[in-house]
Amino acid sequence: MTGSDRGRDFYIATEDEIRTGKTTDVYFLRTLDILKKAGKDRTVVDAEVTTGGLPNGWPWGVLAGVEEAVRLLEGKNVSLWSLPEGTLFEPRTPRGVPLPVMTLEGPYGDWALYETPLLGLVCQTSGIATKAARLRKLANGKQIFSFGVRRMHPGIAPLIERSVYVGGLDAITTPLGSSLLGLPAMGTMPHALVIVMGGSREAFHAVQKYMEKRIPRIALVDTYYDEKTETLLALEEIPDLAGVRLDTPSSRRGNFPQIVREIRWELDVRGHKDVKIYVSGNIDEKTIPALLAAGADGFGIGTSLSNAPTIDFACDIVEIEGRPVAKRGKFGGRKEPLRCPKDGTYEVGVSRCPACGAAMKPVYVQYLDHGEPKEPLPALRDIRSRVIAEVDRIALEV
Ligand SMILES: [Zn+2]
Repeated sequence: MTGSDRGRDFYIATEDEIRTGKTTDVYFLRTLDILKKAGKDRTVVDAEVTTGGLPNGWPWGVLAGVEEAVRLLEGKNVSLWSLPEGTLFEPRTPRGVPLPVMTLEGPYGDWALYETPLLGLVCQTSGIATKAARLRKLANGKQIFSFGVRRMHPGIAPLIERSVYVGGLDAITTPLGSSLLGLPAMGTMPHALVIVMGGSREAFHAVQKYMEKRIPRIALVDTYYDEKTETLLALEEIPDLAGVRLDTPSSRRGNFPQIVREIRWELDVRGHKDVKIYVSGNIDEKTIPALLAAGADGFGIGTSLSNAPTIDFACDIVEIEGRPVAKRGKFGGRKEPLRCPKDGTYEVGVSRCPACGAAMKPVYVQYLDHGEPKEPLPALRDIRSRVIAEVDRIALEV
């Protein structure tokens, strides 16, 4: 069977297939069928989205994917409350109660079909946004570009870009991401340009001559020769050089921070203190501090960002027709997440912050009332600003 016989060439679901339950685990479809036949599908249930813990022992996560979750459930007979997208959350409150990040209410038969896609939308994006926020915190104000789209299925490229952007990084590298998110795409130059142009000098010359003037010129300086040699070539060919990128192969790396120090020195002694040094290739949380100390001005991060661990949120019923219920391991009864406006402490069922005594405030926003939009969704830039403001006021526990 060829691709065209299947009606598509790529293994990716359409929006319509997601909305009609074609990506939903079949056991939900069978459950719905049984509940209908048993006359139980109109039972009104409340369910909460919680996580038992975060990947790698991370102490906090960034909630993302709320906009898509609202779009998925819009028009269905279900009400939805959620922490606003971009809110930092912890798996449990200080009292050990699982913190709900989202609550759904409605006849189970009207929304059971959407649990699988709902979780998928929130789990993956929250994982990437959290990783991005952690990396941003570690980079301490230095720039981070996301280079990870190539490591994941192209069908989710815009989703990766949006999630990384939400986490506070420079994420947009594709034309589609740029048009869907209304943000400019950015990038440096690939090794392919050097190879096809016939050498580093030729490539730098062509970049200077042909690339649009408004795009900052960042020269890739490790293709054929030593990083220092190619940096000097770039200075000769690109008068308005904005930066150099070291993507040194691991087989040649030796002491990578020391190479960065050396390039910084050579640029400085020639009067180019304004030329930035970017590093890329297998950069992750553990490698950033030494490179920062060596003088790196920015990082290109690929796989560790786009392939960030997913956050395993689950959706569990906590009330049936207003009565508390819960499976083993879960806490029954609907819970209203409260937060201290001063220090961000979460708790449920208390009026005063256990840490500082300030009055706790509800954090849920109701986005859907029986499928009808209630509160408006925040703009993308505001979501990102929320993440940055929250992350800037807390400590990072690596
Ligand atoms: Zn407090």
